[in-house]
Amino acid sequence: MDQTIHEGRRESSATAYLHPVRHRSNLTVHATCPTRRVVMESNRATGIDCLLRGREVRFHADREVILCAGAINSPKLLMLSGLGPAEHLRQRGIPVAADLGQVGQNLQDHVDVAVMVSCTQPVSMTPALRWQNKGLVGLRWLLTRSGAASTNHFEAAGYVRSAPDSARADIQYVFIPVLVMPDGSPLPEPHGYQATAMLMHPASRGSVDLAGSDPEAAPVVRFNYLGDDRDVATLINGITHLREIFAQAAFDAYRGREVVPGAALATDSDLETFLRTNLRSTHHPCGTCRMGSDADAVVDGQARVQGADALRVIDASIMPTLTSGNINAPVIMLAEKLADAILGKESLTA
Ligand SMILES: Cc1cc2nc3c(=O)[nH]c(=O)nc-3n(C[C@H](O)[C@H](O)[C@H](O)COP(=O)(O)OP(=O)(O)OC[C@H]3O[C@@H](n4cnc5c(N)ncnc54)[C@H](O)[C@@H]3O)c2cc1C
Repeated sequence: MDQTIHEGRRESSATAYLHPVRHRSNLTVHATCPTRRVVMESNRATGIDCLLRGREVRFHADREVILCAGAINSPKLLMLSGLGPAEHLRQRGIPVAADLGQVGQNLQDHVDVAVMVSCTQPVSMTPALRWQNKGLVGLRWLLTRSGAASTNHFEAAGYVRSAPDSARADIQYVFIPVLVMPDGSPLPEPHGYQATAMLMHPASRGSVDLAGSDPEAAPVVRFNYLGDDRDVATLINGITHLREIFAQAAFDAYRGREVVPGAALATDSDLETFLRTNLRSTHHPCGTCRMGSDADAVVDGQARVQGADALRVIDASIMPTLTSGNINAPVIMLAEKLADAILGKESLTA
């Protein structure tokens, strides 16, 4: 599986894009300077208000403002700036610059569950997680950037249509040769393996709303996971097929007991209860400033906010729907494409 790991170290957009150009004279980075709102004058974005060293300061934009605060905070900042559902803003005492009903709506996220199996042979990576081994694993990584700490162990993935009538692959499997709880703690089994089943195209939709007009206040985020029964059915199919894969002859020499969910959970009703208590976010929120060509879309095909001038949003919030797979690379791809558009460059051809 492709990973954004370079020479044993996980890359981020900061290390890959920002750090190499930090010396540029036309670039200033304030790392602890939260934006409080976009300054709107007659529906034109003319700058941003920020909190810098405890003082509110205003930065003016000669050309335009590009908001990249992510799927939770970009809609929050738009609403604090008067761009959002008019009634919602009025109730919070925020003057309305443009009535954009979809700002903060259409929230989507990938969720997954794991099937974990103990391994009858001492071939898994599970021992690397034991406290007595962690020091050596960490030291090796520090000295050579290699070994168990130089990868996230998501080495193999599969994309399946979970039901005959699925139009496209709707489950992503990731195989991990280690038994570990989501919080990183190992299970009691000495060796084991697992695979996660991730719901790629949830039907459920959530929302990001403002708690009030105070920029310091956290927004009200409702993910509404499994709010649509189709998501439950797809994930149950995902677990069932995963069990079928683990029951194949290739695993005979390694297969121990099913640790999670456990063989006792066999019916759809059992598995639904398991899902509702064990479902995990894979941290891929998107959709809250949806791009589209329809009148309700928040941004147009160039990421320009409808009803406002000189304002774009470029981050995961503008994805209309989730991608078939993890979203970090697609977010970078859409940012690259839009950066080209802003610079007036031709789009790359396929
Ligand atoms: C724990 C975790 C693990 C993940 N693992 C993977 C993975 O393995 N693979 C994968 O594909 N994706 C992964 N993701 C998802 C991926 O990181 C995101 O999809 C991606 O970073 C989204 O990019 P973005 O630009 O939309 O938002 P972000 O990367 O969140 O960038 C938004 C930025 O805005 C800043 N910001 C927010 N509000 C303000 C404000 N008011 N003022 C100033 N700055 C502000 C934030 O500090 C942040 O730097 C993971 C996410 C998390 C949280």
